[in-house]
Amino acid sequence: MKYDFMIVGAGFAGTVLAERITSELNKKVIIVDKRNHVGGNCYDYYDTNGVLVHKYGPHAFHTNSKQVWEYLSNYTSWHFYSHKVLAYVDGKKIPLPFNFNSLDILFPKKIAERFANTLLEHYEFGTKIPILKMLESQNSDIKFLAEFIYNKVFHFYTIKQWGLTPEELDSSVSSRVPIYLSRDDRYFQDSFQAIPKAGYTALFNNLLSSKNIHLVLNADYRDLIDSIEFDKLIYTGEVDAFFDYLHGSLPYRSLKFDLQQKEMEYFQELAQVNYPNEFDFTRITEFKHFLNRGAAGTTIAIEYPETYNPELNEPYYPVPTIENQYIFEKYKKEMQKLADSVIFLGRLAGYKYYNMDQIVGASLETFEKKIV
Ligand code: FAD
Ligand code: UDP
Repeated sequence: MKYDFMIVGAGFAGTVLAERITSELNKKVIIVDKRNHVGGNCYDYYDTNGVLVHKYGPHAFHTNSKQVWEYLSNYTSWHFYSHKVLAYVDGKKIPLPFNFNSLDILFPKKIAERFANTLLEHYEFGTKIPILKMLESQNSDIKFLAEFIYNKVFHFYTIKQWGLTPEELDSSVSSRVPIYLSRDDRYFQDSFQAIPKAGYTALFNNLLSSKNIHLVLNADYRDLIDSIEFDKLIYTGEVDAFFDYLHGSLPYRSLKFDLQQKEMEYFQELAQVNYPNEFDFTRITEFKHFLNRGAAGTTIAIEYPETYNPELNEPYYPVPTIENQYIFEKYKKEMQKLADSVIFLGRLAGYKYYNMDQIVGASLETFEKKIV
């Protein structure tokens, strides 16, 4: 059989395009993933505890895009959930992003008040200040506080997570968790925040349900490409691998998850507790807080960052540094040369630290601009 499109990768990028192409254009698609499941890094499954586990780490959906929200709402109903994160600092658990409540927990009342007042003399209530910006403050109290937060929250966590300091990474990385002049303890302030009610995998199965989508799992596209007839390729895997590392390897950061089942109702207060300073791991996720289906026990994942090795583990994060961006620009030129026959999309091919909603948004846009 001849297909209109061959899609590599059944994560959000590949899956949304497969859905759009088949339902809007009535064309035929073959979608291939080397993993044994759909969903890419968003894949979830029920473990023997009856807990829905996010296999590749905690995934909290959040977006300000009404278009993305409405699109996905055609394929799932939602469990409304606002993600909250605690960080273990000086023997106490404080809300992240660091806010006025965090300040109150860590400092005596009078000192916390003094910091809060000084901050509000310099910034409006509700402002979000990236830590690297706050460190530049000329005010001695703000500078002191910025150095404190940098040392207690960002420095060691970032070294564990990336093997690099916040300054060595693009500033957008640490800006994801700014200092927030507020008492809002939610991790994100987006208008739409939720978990798919039946889980992410069920959402992907709904997106892929057209009879014009032929799904092939456990297969590397390189082993199939010569035996399948198709007009156009959509590629959502690693960009350096696609070009056989022509311009060298692009580093990705990987993770190892130590999954533990516990015979207790709950292990910790919230879905995510970060450990910036102690231990080799960065955070512990307790999945039951995302979606509680009444399981008696609970399941946690202790997350250890590690170097990516294509033979051994998964490429979870592109590593945003100036050097890596320089290499990526060379691959970008290669991608442009193939623009008529291959569409590159997604977190791995775009070598960009995208959230789920950004990938869904980019896929909808790609469909309108490059496919219709
Ligand atoms: P992927 O999901 O990586 O899918 C790419 C697919 O391509 C993979 O399944 C892979 O197996 C397949 N593939 C690659 N090469 C080949 C090949 N040669 N042959 C066949 N198949 C191939 N986002 C949020 O919005 N909120 C969160 O809370 C959140 N938490 C996250 C936590 C972690 C630990 C990580 C790593 C990411 C998180 N994200 C989160 C980001 C989210 O996972 C990504 O934005 C999203 O999964 C990207 O989708 P994608 O389709 O681009 O890539
Ligand atoms: N970060 C940190 N300490 C924390 C949380 C985050 O230093 O307790 C920094 C770290 O560099 C991390 C980045 O902020 O990689 C982005 O954090 P986020 O929670 O968005 O990471 P993700 O969930 O994508 O792994």
